[in-house]
Amino acid sequence: MDTLTKLQTTLGPECKRDQSLANFTTLKVGGPADLFVETKTRDALENAVRQAIHVGVPFTILGGGSNILIGDKGIRGLVIRNMTREITMRGIKGKYENGNHVGEVYVETDSGVIFNSLVRFTIEEGYQGIEMHLGLPGTVGGALFMNSKWTNPEGYVGDVLHSATIVTTRGEVQNVGKEYFHFGYDTSILQKTKETVLSATFELKRSTKETLWDIANRSIAYRRSTQPQGVFTLGCTFQNISKSEAFTIPTPLHTTSAGYLIDHAGLKGYTRGKAQVSPIHANFIVNTGGATAKEILDLVAVIKEKVKQKFNVELKEEIVKVGDF
Ligand SMILES: Cc1cc2nc3c(=O)[nH]c(=O)nc-3n(C[C@H](O)[C@H](O)[C@H](O)COP(=O)(O)OP(=O)(O)OC[C@H]3O[C@@H](n4cnc5c(N)ncnc54)[C@H](O)[C@@H]3O)c2cc1C
Repeated sequence: MDTLTKLQTTLGPECKRDQSLANFTTLKVGGPADLFVETKTRDALENAVRQAIHVGVPFTILGGGSNILIGDKGIRGLVIRNMTREITMRGIKGKYENGNHVGEVYVETDSGVIFNSLVRFTIEEGYQGIEMHLGLPGTVGGALFMNSKWTNPEGYVGDVLHSATIVTTRGEVQNVGKEYFHFGYDTSILQKTKETVLSATFELKRSTKETLWDIANRSIAYRRSTQPQGVFTLGCTFQNISKSEAFTIPTPLHTTSAGYLIDHAGLKGYTRGKAQVSPIHANFIVNTGGATAKEILDLVAVIKEKVKQKFNVELKEEIVKVGDF
């Protein structure tokens, strides 16, 4: 029996062959997975990862598919769609002043929890720390992999992580603290180690839900006024440039915005097949209907080339490319 068949047999009838993946991403692009399984509990997620490691089949975790460009020829090995959804209160620290708790609260979430659900839950409970991320698509696992961020008010998801449970590439389950992740702009250690996050505990502060909704609603309003709505996209395609690079180019206030550079390279609305630079936000590539991964990559290459010609800056992709192109 070949290893794929062996793994499929172990994972049971829910594990399918040649599952098309495009609809599991927000860009709606990409070919099939050799093997595909959806995991709804932490145990099932851990089991799928460990079984794949055990038989030596490569595996890929798919969260909300909101930052992932899957190749037209699909992904070899097993794709695990993480649909674990549990949120648990883990405890509080601090003291009571005038009957009010002052201090930290600890919320543990499965890595497949939809980040927006977590944001709404913490706001309603009056827990401060991730409210600015309202509107961030995807799951907790994807947000830790990317250290997803918001700029006004500035916040990175990793800022408020306390600890996490991961599965190593040898199949061992470990608890690790926030420092383990080496969070930076659009980066975490997971991008190198390829470890899987099973669950995460966030350390949040007490606030009022009115204050938190106010911040969250301002984030959402800003998203709605600056980003295309109801389109197939992965959000920002490129990272913003560094402050030191921004000082080398003659732009207003030395902006670090990749979108500004793409726009001023004359690319808003530019298309390659069915892939388009959004006319609303130049750092968003939109699938206008039936785009291929190749068209997206061709457009990425054109953008990089034109921005290099005009500003002498190398843009770096923020999106993750996975599979065979
Ligand atoms: C409209 C729109 C707006 C966006 N706005 C923002 C924004 O404001 N800020 C921002 O930073 N990003 C933004 N993004 C990008 C994207 O939403 C984030 O990067 C998001 O956190 C990705 O999460 P995901 O679950 O969808 O990850 P996926 O796209 O499913 O996966 C991304 C990577 O994470 C890995 N991964 C996923 N889960 C796990 C896990 N449990 N363990 C280990 N690795 C895992 C995957 O294997 C893959 O390599 C936006 C995207 C869209 C479409």
